[in-house]
This record gives sequence, C-alpha cells and structure tokens, in this order.
Amino acid sequence: MSVSVSPIKAFNDNYIWCLRNQTHCTVVDPGDAAPVLTYCQDNQLTLSAILITHHHWDHTGGIDALLAAFPDIPVYGPQNKDIKQITTRLSQGDNLKLAQLGVRFSVLEVPGHTLDHIAYYGDIGLFCGDTLFSAGCGRLFEGSPQQMFQSLAKLTALPADTAVYCTHEYTMANITFAEAVEPSNQALIDYKHWANEQREKNIPTLPSSIQRELAVNPFLRCHSAELVTNVNQNMGATLTSEQATFASLRSWKDNF
Ligand code: ZN
Ligand code: FE
Repeated sequence: MSVSVSPIKAFNDNYIWCLRNQTHCTVVDPGDAAPVLTYCQDNQLTLSAILITHHHWDHTGGIDALLAAFPDIPVYGPQNKDIKQITTRLSQGDNLKLAQLGVRFSVLEVPGHTLDHIAYYGDIGLFCGDTLFSAGCGRLFEGSPQQMFQSLAKLTALPADTAVYCTHEYTMANITFAEAVEPSNQALIDYKHWANEQREKNIPTLPSSIQRELAVNPFLRCHSAELVTNVNQNMGATLTSEQATFASLRSWKDNF
C-alpha cells in the first residue's frame, strides 16, 4: 500500500501533515485535534501515531484530544519532559518505523527555534516543524544564531530532492523579505510568481525541496555577494563570516 502526505489546515497558517495509506494515518505536530478528527472520519482512517517536533502549543495542543479518540497510540517527540504525552523520546540519530505505514525516519536534533526541536527525515521527506520554512527560517525563541546556523546546515546536507514539509504557510511573507535582501536572485523572482499563483488558488506552496530552498532561501544563502552587501549595509558594519551574516540577517528579519 502506498503512502501519501496530505496537509490538514489548522489555525491561520499551520499545516498538520498527515501521512496515510488506505486504512491508517500518522500526523505531525497536531496543534488542534478537531481538523484531524474530521479528516480521519471523512477518510475512514485510524490514527496510528503522532510525531512532535517541539513544544510550542500550535504543534502540541491537539495531542490530548487525539489520544482520547485513539487511546494508546505512540507519541514520538523530543527529549522534553514538559511534553508529558510523549511515549518515545528521541535524540539525534535515533530511527523509528511507523509500522502500519511502513515508513521509516531518522531523527535530527535541530535546536534554534526552540532548544528541544527535532526533525524527522526519511524516504518520504523531511518534516522540519518551525526550523526551516520556504524562503525563511524559524525565529530564535530559545537557541542562539550559531545553533540555528548549524541546524540548517544539517538539513541542507540532505539530498537535494528531499521534499521539505514545514509547519507554516509563511512563504509569501518570507519572499517579501528575501527580495529586500537579494533582489537580483532570478530563482527567487521566478519562485515568487509561482508561489503567488499557488496562493491565489488557495493551494499550499509546500512541500518545498532542499534544492529549491538552497536557491531561494536567504537564510541558506549567507555566501551570496549581493546578500552580504545588503546585510552589511543594513548593519552599518562589515561582517566577516557566514555565521555572523546569518545572525544579522535573522535579527533584520525580526524587525522587518
Ligand atoms: Zn514553534
Ligand atoms: Fe509553529
């Protein structure tokens, strides 16, 4: 039985990614249970596992109600005791298999947005929560710029054709910032046209891919001469490393 990945919309701009075959499904970061329960009912699916990337409520808020409807299913998540419902706590390099779907993942620790943040990587794609967005990256609520820089480097080391499933539809807003930083990037200009068309039809811009993000995402392009010039100008300083450029770029975006 083949496995597909579908977005279940939640709140304003969250996607609860649902991995499913004909009979079973697994959801990633169910911030809200109601749309997941509706999806399961409409498609006659049994929820067989929950994957969590980090502790924020918009990724965890639906766990209790889903466990009430589907008791005793495994809840995979990070090494964070504050997320009490987790049954299997995961660390860098751990492997897991979703038995009913036959899907395997390995775990990447990607601190930065939060300190507990993990990502799930497998043949089916990368589920990266709020670490990497299309044309952007997560805010640094808990980690340092250095941690986030290294976490993003872990993700970009994955195969170029890896499908990238982010939790939020932030693409158009991210592109607006990316254009300010790297206005001559033709891949970005082309991507804006495409993404805009998608959004006008109310279609997700996700999943992205590692290859696309390397071409359009300013946070992965701290080597670009145009980007470096603009970040230096914004800072009124000359930055001497990609990591320093990344840190300044992130704080520029915070105030954009
Ligand atoms: Zn978050
Ligand atoms: Fe979030």
